[in-house]
Amino acid sequence: MISIEQGLQIVSNNVGAVVGEDFMPPEDVSLSDSIGRTLRQEVFADLNSPPFERSIRDGFALRAGDVQSVPVELDVVGESRAGSSYDGSIGQGQCVAIMTGAEVPSGADAVVMVEYTERISEQRVRILESARSGRSIQSEGSECRKGDRILESGREIQVSEIGVLASVGCARVQVSKRPRVAILSTGDELVGVDQTPGRAQIRNSNSFTLYAQVLAAGGEPEMLGIVSDDVEDLAQKIGLALERDIVITSGGVSMGKYDLVEGVLADHGVEIGFNKVAMKPGKPTVFGWKGRTFVFGLPGNPVSTIVSFQLFVRPLIRRLLHAAEVGDRLLEANLEQDVRCDPVRAACVPASVCFGDGGYQLKTVKWKGSSDLIGLSRANAYVLIPQQQGSLTAGTRVRFIPMAPSLC
Ligand code: AMP
Ligand code: MG
Repeated sequence: MISIEQGLQIVSNNVGAVVGEDFMPPEDVSLSDSIGRTLRQEVFADLNSPPFERSIRDGFALRAGDVQSVPVELDVVGESRAGSSYDGSIGQGQCVAIMTGAEVPSGADAVVMVEYTERISEQRVRILESARSGRSIQSEGSECRKGDRILESGREIQVSEIGVLASVGCARVQVSKRPRVAILSTGDELVGVDQTPGRAQIRNSNSFTLYAQVLAAGGEPEMLGIVSDDVEDLAQKIGLALERDIVITSGGVSMGKYDLVEGVLADHGVEIGFNKVAMKPGKPTVFGWKGRTFVFGLPGNPVSTIVSFQLFVRPLIRRLLHAAEVGDRLLEANLEQDVRCDPVRAACVPASVCFGDGGYQLKTVKWKGSSDLIGLSRANAYVLIPQQQGSLTAGTRVRFIPMAPSLC
């Protein structure tokens, strides 16, 4: 049996062998459609930012030298508002009423907030606080200069990225095409989520968790439904699925009499890279490829399916997307309780992490094993327990994968 790291290496080697720059070519989308996609171009500032010397306060633009001793009265010679500048120049003893975002008029080198002034008349103002040169002014180009590279290819476009793209005028954006991912759930016991299970039946939850995981990773999921534990049905549906970039099946990869997936994959000419990983849950994880299609036969138990996807499928999707961050971000926490290790398999189990005592504190959640989705729903992380004899004692530093980006 191979380790998780060896499995990841096998996946990575195969992706490397098959995937060139042309594998997921970039496509051009509108700015609003680029949210959640992977940027596939470098982005340069088309202008200085700010593009002009700008006030960051509502107040009066003046010469700092005039307000060294206060209070002092100045002449108000005009107004500079956002979108409409004051054209003249400010002389000694003069100032201009200015609004946030407006251009600082020539001659002025500071802005005093309106809160620190008293308007005497339309033409006169009393300044109550002194200011140093540069006060409340953003100089032109202080955020970036025209031509600066401000976003790199591979970034996931989220709130700040889309703001940057909008501000430099990228109405259309080059993003990676999303890999198409076929999802098949195998099992004679499965019924649709809109059905009431009969005796010995259960609802097909894996198609939905996989759908959600594919979407979150940046792929384009496609549910191809439920397949029975029957060689012909499996062969037909897997044949269709192999037209996509990635095929994911769930179930049918253990040692039971009706676990037929690996055999059917082999019949289709899928080369198998591995079929067992020393991990808990998720041991019977199958990885293979046929031409330029990658195939994962994931175990059927709902939590095993989710964990196997997280560890093996997600990084592959990220790699196909040319994403800058491929693997999971691993963080460290202090274990709050003793945790037993397995001498043969590393574990990746649901855990609850919170911040306290100057760092992350982690405890495993109560769960009843790899079928327990409700147990999983109490967790906000997966903790990685190394394969070793004995236990990890409370206080040990352990690595974890946050489920929610907000933990990062
Ligand atoms: P298998 O890997 O096919 O032996 O399935 C292992 C366990 O996972 C069995 O208890 C199955 O009923 C369950 N299971 C398999 N597929 C699904 C699915 N799509 N949704 C929910 N549970 C499943
Ligand atoms: Mg099954």
